[in-house]
Amino acid sequence: MFDTILIANRGEIACRVIDTCRRLGVRTVAVHSDVDAQARHVEMADEAISLGGASPAESYLRGDAIIAAAQATGAQAIHPGYGFLSENPDFVEAVEAAGLVFIGPSASAIRAMGLKDAAKALMAEAGVPVVPGYHGEDQDPGHLEVEAAEIGYPVLIKAVAGGGGKGMRLVERPGDFVSGLESAKAEARGAFGNDAVLIEKYITSPRHIEVQVFGDGTQAVHLFERDCSLQRRHQKVIEEAPAPGMTREMRDAMGQAAVRAAEAIGYKGAGTVEFIVDGSDGLRADGFWFMEMNTRLQVEHPVTELITGVDLVEWQLRVAAGEPLPCAQEDLTISGHSFEARLYAEDVPAGFLPATGRLAHLAFPESARADTGVRSGDVISPHYDPMIAKVIVHGPSRAVALRKLRRALAETHVAGTVTNLSFLGALARHEGFSAGDVDTGLIGRELESLIAVSRTSPILIAQGVLTLVGLDKMPCALDGFALWQSLAQHVTVSVENDVVPCRLVTRGPGAIDVTVKETIVEARHGANGWRYDGQPASAVFVEDDAATVFGDQTCVVRRVDPLDVEAGAGGSSDLIEAPMPGLVRQVFVAAGQHVTKGDRLAILEAMKMEHSLLAARDGEVAEVMAENGAQVEAGAVLIRLQSEEA
Ligand code: ADP
Ligand code: ADP
Ligand code: MG
Repeated sequence: MFDTILIANRGEIACRVIDTCRRLGVRTVAVHSDVDAQARHVEMADEAISLGGASPAESYLRGDAIIAAAQATGAQAIHPGYGFLSENPDFVEAVEAAGLVFIGPSASAIRAMGLKDAAKALMAEAGVPVVPGYHGEDQDPGHLEVEAAEIGYPVLIKAVAGGGGKGMRLVERPGDFVSGLESAKAEARGAFGNDAVLIEKYITSPRHIEVQVFGDGTQAVHLFERDCSLQRRHQKVIEEAPAPGMTREMRDAMGQAAVRAAEAIGYKGAGTVEFIVDGSDGLRADGFWFMEMNTRLQVEHPVTELITGVDLVEWQLRVAAGEPLPCAQEDLTISGHSFEARLYAEDVPAGFLPATGRLAHLAFPESARADTGVRSGDVISPHYDPMIAKVIVHGPSRAVALRKLRRALAETHVAGTVTNLSFLGALARHEGFSAGDVDTGLIGRELESLIAVSRTSPILIAQGVLTLVGLDKMPCALDGFALWQSLAQHVTVSVENDVVPCRLVTRGPGAIDVTVKETIVEARHGANGWRYDGQPASAVFVEDDAATVFGDQTCVVRRVDPLDVEAGAGGSSDLIEAPMPGLVRQVFVAAGQHVTKGDRLAILEAMKMEHSLLAARDGEVAEVMAENGAQVEAGAVLIRLQSEEA
């Protein structure tokens, strides 16, 4: 085993790797960018080296600096985590040339799976079923159109260099093929510098089921499957293992196909073979097709760990250090069921818009495994992925594990930034999902009901108001001391952009009536603390003028000055501003052009994703301030419309 390894990553995965290293007595070296100097992974590691900069290109993608850091600190091996340099074969070669061990597959195995077309050809040769389609060299648009017709619509156009759901277009009708091809190519060129595509039959009612494999360079085993069908924009949201409805025959067939795929490329370390499954008619042993192989540890690896009892990072270290595979296929078994939910700083109703901000408060329940790279007080910066944590649970059955997931999400407390927490909660309670009835279109179809915010309950608002005013702690509120008696106090708060006037009236010792708009909530203090209309109080976090109440949904109650509210009413619809710092990918309009409400005016790229900026009303473009390719700050005005009165 190594004495010291360097972790070439940040965030939760760097922390996850350090956890296992500590358990095995391996010393760890962290690397970090300037903005991450105080990050959790830096604090956890035995030693840390600064890479400088903020953007990945200036920091976590600097292979040479990372190798130099390993040499300077006496590390014998480099763990790449996921993302960044984890699937970069040139980096693997440079690490090896420096006399260090790369904890992962060989450069040639990564290259073999790096492009989707070549990977599919290789897999077909190895006898692994691949999605029917065209993955040849001829990129002539006319030829591609003929191939698409032969495959039969609907078809999916995919960038061969694609990843993260980019460069992919679903085409339903022959008439839409040319425009779909053009936009897929444009996105692929921008994101990967390679606009070659392949075409696949679009599987309707598809499920995404992937198999965890582990190889020693010659032989491989599989650690069963994960179902990652709950996706939005082709990105995973909740994952589970095993897959609901999986049969013995299909599991064996998929496991064997995945092992064949890994052995065909002499795979070493942890990898994932992703399959698309036709779920329209139950799971059948002949109804799965290879999509791609991810040659790294995957974000969702914990669900596999919880059902198999294997620490995959430990296996990675042991095999990289030259030990044989820790166990044989027949020694691996599945125990119970596991779920992982990805907690992101993002505004779901605004179209899953990534958010930034300071995590004023962050707490997870003991009952769940929370893999995280941040603590209370840390900042979600615009430079990296906005994931806050992965909330992972295990239970003896799917039903029990899902109940534990719901509870763990309800007991996860985040204040200071918007999150997808209530969306995750709604998903975990969704009937179809609860029944194991999943496909990759579920979130898209049910989006409206999943984000329909149940109106914030007056009880939560009342609790926030009482806490902000400090009455919940005031002894006189408890003993009825005359100070507040019968004295009505008016407090104006804002909740989700809604201004809510409230009134507090003390009725007696430990008895306060809180009027929230027209509803009266009775706050009463008893042996077990405060109750609101008879219900026990929720946890509350207060900072400055805001109280975050962690009820069945997280509710932020902010004290406002009633005068400011009136002055600030009615924001301008003339200005199109950057909702977050990012790169202006494309501007679609010019001064003088007429636009209609909902028109796409520009695309901003930030945090791994592209965001369309839409016109809030009809009007004429007065001025375009944004240039293609410009880096802009949050709030920067990109486009101005002619004001309505003009
Ligand atoms: P996975 O495919 O492993 O489930 P995701 O779909 O979330 O992972 O992410 C897709 C890819 O985006 C990852 O494999 C990685 O390349 C990149 N990525 C994810 N998280 C980060 C991060 N924190 N920093 C940089 N890149 C990331
Ligand atoms: P990426 O490299 O971006 O992860 P994948 O090829 O793995 O791209 O596809 C991402 C997702 O797109 C899959 O998880 C699945 O939901 C969907 N998808 C991919 N191929 C097909 C297909 N042929 N039919 C239907 N859905 C597909
Ligand atoms: Mg994929």
